[in-house]
Amino acid sequence: MLSTGSSSTEAARPLQGPPLWLLAELTYRCPLQCPYCSNPLDFARQGQELDTAQWIDVFTQARALGAAQLGFSGGEPLVREDLGELIGAARELGYYTNLITSGMGLTEKKILQFHEAGLDHIQVSFQASDEEVNNLLAGSRKAFEQKLAMARAVKAAGYPMVLNFVTHRHNIDHIDRIIDLCVALEADFVELATCQYYGWAELNRAGLLPTRTQLERAESVVNAYRTRLQAEGNPCRLILVTPDYYEERPKGCMNGWGNIFLTVTPDGTALPCHSARQLPVTFPNVREHSLAHIWYDSFGFNRFRGFDWMPEPCRSCDEKTRDFGGCRCQAYLLTGDASQADPVCSKSPHHHKILTARAEAELPQPPIEALTFRNERASRIICKG
Ligand code: SF4
Ligand code: SF4
Repeated sequence: MLSTGSSSTEAARPLQGPPLWLLAELTYRCPLQCPYCSNPLDFARQGQELDTAQWIDVFTQARALGAAQLGFSGGEPLVREDLGELIGAARELGYYTNLITSGMGLTEKKILQFHEAGLDHIQVSFQASDEEVNNLLAGSRKAFEQKLAMARAVKAAGYPMVLNFVTHRHNIDHIDRIIDLCVALEADFVELATCQYYGWAELNRAGLLPTRTQLERAESVVNAYRTRLQAEGNPCRLILVTPDYYEERPKGCMNGWGNIFLTVTPDGTALPCHSARQLPVTFPNVREHSLAHIWYDSFGFNRFRGFDWMPEPCRSCDEKTRDFGGCRCQAYLLTGDASQADPVCSKSPHHHKILTARAEAELPQPPIEALTFRNERASRIICKG
């Protein structure tokens, strides 16, 4: 329910801390069609987007609960014409704000407008260091040129330059060229983030998962660049996020279910993580419930809190306080049961699925064109089943 106060079970609340990080997925609309997009496969049939006043109400409620960081994401958040207004409202509420964008639709004028409205941070994502590969993956012939121009404009406006490259088997062998490009652009932070295999990336996993050899080479290249950049006094920081498919233990997903992160999707559905929509769990909507109720009392946010929901082997495992049994979405996608141990864990009875995926990655690489691109048409076909 928008514009509401607290719910009735406040006495039970001190056990669970407040949400600290609010991710506002303002829209699923996007001019690009990355085949690894984390948006749901059926995004084309999602409901109507929240309007400006409804989003500001969400920000107000989350801030009252204790949220301090607000990320604007999508789809492409720049397609929302009210983005400047939303940024201004978030600043007035005292948030630290971050815009996560492909750069498509960004202009120097908008950057200045957002700066004046109080935006703290802009992250521009690229698909590759090579114009042809970048544009092929993005599904746009203009994407690379536009991204370069906007990355420079972000820096010229006084922001740190934060670049994001999603890495996979089609670009990871060029990680040196990616870093060279970032250095040439005078980037301050570079996130070299491997695909997370949910949403469209999971659909395309066989065409995206790098081999272990590719990954090890990429790690050694990044380490060599770190050493070189440091010796040269270059402040550019490289952050490499490797795929957990090559680990023996899962990551502590979202720092625990419903523990810190709160995502609100374009139609107002609230999620404990941006991928959770694909789970067979009923999640609450901000149109019907207050955020206080959603965060503390709703079924969806309590479903995997704590440890009581865990079956074996997690239930009696002494590592459960570190990784919370791993990722619920990955468990569901790979086993059909969201309460199972994440199959990345070598103790999971489903770990062989990860081993199979690693073996598939060794097969000859299909061309980029063979991937399923994230667009309305493909989403509608998937919706029809
Ligand atoms: S990953 Fe690509 S397709 Fe998905 S929202 Fe971002 S830019 Fe758009
Ligand atoms: S068995 Fe469960 S809790 Fe233990 S390490 Fe594996 S995923 Fe983590």
